[in-house]
Amino acid sequence: MTVDLALVAAAYLIAGVLFILSLAGLSKHESAKLGNIYGIIGMAIALIATLWLAGQSAGVTQWVAIIVAMAIGAVIGINLAVRVEMTGMPELIAMLHSFVGLAAVLVGFNTFFASSAAPSLGAAVQEGGSDGVHLVEIFLGVFIGAVTFTGSIVAFLKLSTKISGRPLMLPFRHWLNLLAGLVSLGLMVWFVASESLVPLAVMTAIALAFGWHLVASIGGGDMPVVISMLNSYSGWAAAAAGFMLSNDLLIITGALVGSSGAYLSYIMSNAMNRSFISVIAGGFGSDGAVTSGDVDYGDHRETTAEEVAEMLVHAGSVVITPGYGMAVAQAQYPVADLTAKLRERGVTVRFGIHPVAGRLPGHMNVLLAEAKVPYDIVLEMDEINDDLPDTDVVLVIGANDTVNPAAAEDPSSPIAGMPVIEVWKAAEVVVFKRSMSAGYAGVQNPLFFRDNTAMLFGDAKDSVESIIRAL
Ligand code: NDP
Repeated sequence: MTVDLALVAAAYLIAGVLFILSLAGLSKHESAKLGNIYGIIGMAIALIATLWLAGQSAGVTQWVAIIVAMAIGAVIGINLAVRVEMTGMPELIAMLHSFVGLAAVLVGFNTFFASSAAPSLGAAVQEGGSDGVHLVEIFLGVFIGAVTFTGSIVAFLKLSTKISGRPLMLPFRHWLNLLAGLVSLGLMVWFVASESLVPLAVMTAIALAFGWHLVASIGGGDMPVVISMLNSYSGWAAAAAGFMLSNDLLIITGALVGSSGAYLSYIMSNAMNRSFISVIAGGFGSDGAVTSGDVDYGDHRETTAEEVAEMLVHAGSVVITPGYGMAVAQAQYPVADLTAKLRERGVTVRFGIHPVAGRLPGHMNVLLAEAKVPYDIVLEMDEINDDLPDTDVVLVIGANDTVNPAAAEDPSSPIAGMPVIEVWKAAEVVVFKRSMSAGYAGVQNPLFFRDNTAMLFGDAKDSVESIIRAL
């Protein structure tokens, strides 16, 4: 290895370690900022090393090409990042995953054409192992990339409600998935034996359809797990591209994203009481059950901001459970203000956060941290549930599915079995929303009709501000 290559390898190693430190930092609120800084430094080192390597091996032309491509990417990326609302983040993430998938497909085909143009699979093979292993790398890289590409596009379309969130129920859908997997396996054997483009191209078409079907057959309430699963797939696609390009850093980074995404999917499947294996197989948890929207739960009771203010000043303990509606209304700032005011009056205020509240993992935590709510009063679902029977007032601010008692009590509900925050066990519950409409999973919520529940209709931000004025 020349001095240049050794330096690049060392830079990649340092970047890899910084990425691991970054992930470790991101696992806790307190260290998340430092984690981000490690990640940024790691990425800067990786980019400089890669640019330098490109300049050394292929000269200035390649450098210019990379810098122009990066500049175009940066303009598009900055433009999107500045304009995207926090509530639109999941769509953006799904879209970005699709780019990673597409990149892996393109790298795969490029590696194939470049290597088949040169004898014995060309120079890349010298570093990439035997011909057979290298062909398997190309095949798997293209397969994972294609599944990630179309799967992420469907996730984007569903999350941005450009297509219906209802699961696609093709007959024999699990058999179709199995068939696609088996045929692809056969095509891989053919590809390795023949080194022909035909099996690679046929598999790509199958994988694109497979990715589409995998996510299309998953229902609304189960989307959070799909997002983290696609995150994992995009990591494996990047790692596969790393093998094809013989780039150690891409392999490390891809494996980090792939394994942490898989672990997150596992935690989320547990949190939603779904089987992890059926998540990976696609179409899990969606047995075609439809909304229980037609059930007559009786009448609901309405309240006013003044009544809620009165209730709160006389309460000893208050729990706030935010959801997607708090993000839509951008109500986190008045919520933080209300919290501070109640605490000044000696009321114990805590937050109960459901793992899938909002539209992406950690959505509520980010908003509350942004509004400077102290971390130590923000608790997870499991930490708060036992305390709810002893709580005086629960404020449900723009949450719906994540506080739905049907999940715990109605086995026929589409969200049956999903653990929820058991707000109905508190003495009084106030639900902040604009109407009686259902949440993301499309299921009516019997909580709204309980005797100890009062509905405060209106935009969550306006309602909380009215309460603060009335205090
Ligand atoms: P939901 O989507 O179930 O409900 C949000 C509620 O907020 C709605 O009922 C809506 O009622 C209300 N709302 C919307 N805008 C406002 C506003 N401006 N002011 C007041 N209320 C408002 O939210 P949850 O957080 O409880 O549940 C999350 C759901 O999203 C789950 O089903 C989860 O599976 C799914 N999901 C989660 C992801 C994740 O990673 N966390 C990713 C993808 C999906 P109304 O219209 O009447 O105001």
